[in-house]
Order: sequence, then structure tokens, then C-alpha cells
Amino acid sequence: MSDEMIPVGRDDILPFRCGPDNECFNECCRDLNQFLTPYDIMRLKQHLGLRSAEFLKTYTALHTGPESGLPVVTFKPNPDQGYACPFVSSEGCTVYENRPASCRMYPLARAVARSRETGELTEYFALIEEDHCKGFSDQGGQTVGSWLEGQEVDAYNRVNDRLMEIISLKNSVRPGRLEGALADKFYLALYDLDTFRAEIFENQLLEDLDVPADILDRIRADDASLLSFGLIWVRHVLFGREMDYTEMA
Ligand code: SF4
Ligand code: SF4
Repeated sequence: MSDEMIPVGRDDILPFRCGPDNECFNECCRDLNQFLTPYDIMRLKQHLGLRSAEFLKTYTALHTGPESGLPVVTFKPNPDQGYACPFVSSEGCTVYENRPASCRMYPLARAVARSRETGELTEYFALIEEDHCKGFSDQGGQTVGSWLEGQEVDAYNRVNDRLMEIISLKNSVRPGRLEGALADKFYLALYDLDTFRAEIFENQLLEDLDVPADILDRIRADDASLLSFGLIWVRHVLFGREMDYTEMA
């Protein structure tokens, strides 16, 4: 088998078992070229007790989508360490409780499609079989659905799906490269949360908007609320959509 993707459904049996006894333990945490989503970054910087700017500077590299101009954040390349993740140790992942969504999903890939008629999302999954991963066996015995539940990935997917909607909105409303101040706003509100909060409460970033007091209280106190607000704000300032707070419910 070699780098295959096999479509699977939630009720299919996942013939997979991963753990420290596997001969390939930690192999999937090396030779990385891993994208980090805004929610991944929020969880990791909270885990490490860092401000977002410090986390981004220390652990990530910023790229720009060649066609879209959108910021793309990855772990900082680390050739001296074989491109290993900065958080892998001989005992495994040192940030396990707050590891990124892609680490939780592996060896599954997930895609979503939204119905134009009903607005409902449909999920699609595929099994990624790569040569370095020796976890495939007949001993799995669990369904794809129960594997996903154990990975606690839903909170990540909810936010990542909203990000994907913004990216597809950008492609239809503002095709071509996003440049300058608009690209900076996208990065500020979604990736550099603590600086975004400081811009709001110390530099009156939202002075032109009539943001309800209870929403301001929430984004002052809580990173997840601030990121949820950031997704709404980006949609407003970049693409002219109404500030609709129902998604923060
Ligand atoms: S965050 Fe953890 S699970 Fe993900 S690549 Fe790094 S060490 Fe591996
Ligand atoms: S390579 Fe596969 S089986 Fe081995 S530790 Fe990583 S995910 Fe688990």
C-alpha cells in the first residue's frame, strides 16, 4: 500500500490502531508540512500559556496563498530536526490535549459540502494509507464515527467549517489575491487573537460598529468567543456582510 485515499463513511469499520507499542510511534510527527488553522493556534497558545504573537513568532511560519493572497500558517520548518513537530517527544505528543485537528483526524481526511437548497453540511471522509504508518490492522474494531468521537475533533471542525465558508465567499466576492490591509485584517482577527483583542479594547478598532455590550464582555474574557467574533468581523470588513452574532450563540 502506498499513499492511497479510500472513501469511508461514519458507519464503516476503521481497521486502525495507534499507540506507543506501534513500531512507527511518532513517525507521523516527523517530516511535517502541517497547516495550522486559527482554532489550532488558539488551543496551542492556550496550552503553552503564550500570547498569540509569541506563539506565532516562535513556532510558526507565515506563507501566502499564491492565488488567493490569504495567509497560510504552518509549523516553522525545522530541517535540523528532520522537520519534526516542535511538540513531539520520545513519550509522544507533549500538547496532546490541545493537538491540532489534522493530528486528531489522521489517518482520516475530511471534506464538507453545503447544500445550496437547505444550507445543510454533508461530511465526506477518506482513509489515508501512507507507507510510514503501520497502524492498519484487523484489530481496529471501531467504526469511523466512534474513532472520531474519541478524537474530540467536533469543536475544531465547527470553527474550521466556518473558516472554509469565508474562504469560498472570498473566492466568489473577491477573486484574485487579497493584498495589504485586507490580508492583514484577516491574519489579525483569525490568527493573532491577543493582538486583535488589544486593538479592540486599547485602540478602538470597533468604534464604527455598534457591538452589543454582552458580546464585548465575551470577547474580552474568552478566546473562543473572540475567534468566533473574528470570523464574523472578517466577513463584514472584507466582504461587506452584516455583523450577525447568531453564530456566537
Ligand atoms: S502536535 Fe502532537 S500529534 Fe501533532 S504533529 Fe505535533 S507532536 Fe504530533
Ligand atoms: S504513524 Fe500511524 S500508527 Fe504510527 S503513531 Fe503515527 S498515526 Fe499512529
